[in-house]
Amino acid sequence: MVCVHRLQDPIEANLIRGLLMNEDIPAELTGESLVGAYSGIPKLCDVRVLVPEKHRGSAEAVIQRYERARATAGHEWHCDQCGEVNDASFEICWSCERARS
Ligand SMILES: [Zn+2]
Repeated sequence: MVCVHRLQDPIEANLIRGLLMNEDIPAELTGESLVGAYSGIPKLCDVRVLVPEKHRGSAEAVIQRYERARATAGHEWHCDQCGEVNDASFEICWSCERARS
């Protein structure tokens, strides 16, 4: 299995997994179980999307399509300081904690 995508939102990770499964790509997620370990506190976690090596190319195409659709919808923002992409629901950068501009 190879990692084709990393993200912080397990809900979004499941969405991507669903998109991949629709394309007959058997995707798996790791890191999901971290969520819920800190009850009551919104906690970012590191989720990886894994696919078999032979499906890597098609999986990346599916994810790129998804990311483009998201970017067009204007749901995410780029951090001024470190350039990381943040989800629309984040008020500070998940990576360096700079406030959203
Ligand atoms: Zn940042």
